[in-house]
Amino acid sequence: MSSSPSLQPLYSFDGWVIKNIKLSSDVAVIKIRHDKRHLHQCPFCGQKVGENRRLWQVAKDLPLGTAHLVEIIYEAIQGYCINCKHYSTLIPPGIDHHSRSTTRLMHYVCRLCRFMPADKVPEFLPISSDTARRWDKKILSKYLPEPDFNNLRIILVDEKSIGPHHHYLTVVLNGETGEVLHLAEGKKKESLEAFFNKLTPQQRSDIEAVGMDRSGAYKSVVTKAVPHAAIVYDKFHIVANYNKAIDEVRRSEWHKADEEHKSFIKGQRYNLFRNPENRKPEQTADLNTLLLLNESLFKAYILKDALKVLWTYVYPKSASKYLDKWTTWAKETGLVPLIKFAKGLDRDRKELLAFIRHRITSAKLEAFNATIARIVRRACGYRDLDYLFLKIRQEGNPVLQI
Ligand SMILES: [Zn+2]
Repeated sequence: MSSSPSLQPLYSFDGWVIKNIKLSSDVAVIKIRHDKRHLHQCPFCGQKVGENRRLWQVAKDLPLGTAHLVEIIYEAIQGYCINCKHYSTLIPPGIDHHSRSTTRLMHYVCRLCRFMPADKVPEFLPISSDTARRWDKKILSKYLPEPDFNNLRIILVDEKSIGPHHHYLTVVLNGETGEVLHLAEGKKKESLEAFFNKLTPQQRSDIEAVGMDRSGAYKSVVTKAVPHAAIVYDKFHIVANYNKAIDEVRRSEWHKADEEHKSFIKGQRYNLFRNPENRKPEQTADLNTLLLLNESLFKAYILKDALKVLWTYVYPKSASKYLDKWTTWAKETGLVPLIKFAKGLDRDRKELLAFIRHRITSAKLEAFNATIARIVRRACGYRDLDYLFLKIRQEGNPVLQI
């Protein structure tokens, strides 16, 4: 054990002076006392506060060399202001009294939590994983900028199921920047209304288009909150709907098939939905065999690629003509799920073709889905929705150094 003045710059707290430092190979204890020249001013009125009592408190700090546990022992001075009749406690700057930690340690934990699950933090620092999560949340809520609702032109609305308990979340993104604007749990209608309630009339009138899936609940909320904005059903959701129709065809073909072909059809489910660039060569070979064996699936599959062409059009009129062609092809297959799907497209023609004018792409939504999956996997799910929202906003803010 020894006291060393050379460590002073590491433990300089304005208004406090080092009393002593005790070092062992794995623990460091730094005791600091209040400097009498440093006045206790009332945080409410600025007057000098009369001292009531002093308490020795402990705060954890960053590790020092091999010393895993570093504790700052400091004097906290409680006082009473006779001017404005408020109690206040004077503590060293850079210490979070309630968290019993230096703020620099909390910032460090926040940084670690960006790259590792909170459960791993105890392997690096002498704190529990619950404490790591609590500190991470506290720092993020203090320093992450609030979502920007100004000059929103395009927004994307989606429903997402997360975690083992399949909580349903309504997510609102800025369609241009990908920024997450809103995250709410519960019924679609109320969750989306809560977002629009946060906007000023000017912010609402800035919104030109809203991209979403074909859910009636979202549509009615948008029509009411921003009646001037165009509703756009985007490619991402339509293709997902179409995949469901293909799956219905696959299932009915499976029922018709003999035993030998049944297991083969069953195993091909995901190959039918994969984009060609995501398929391994053997998966492509299997898929081709399936399509040769089964004419209905072959047609449904060909029509999937043909459907995607719709979003390549530049002029609404040509796109409209192409949509007519596609729905005719789908109806001509005689396959019930495809006929139903084609009728749905006829019905939603306006919202579908709105894409051509507003060019809402689902890229931001897909990127968001990847982000949220990564965060939830890292954290093994999130029970605290506010914390999840902060973690998602942090991911969207790569330049921000906390
Ligand atoms: Zn006062």
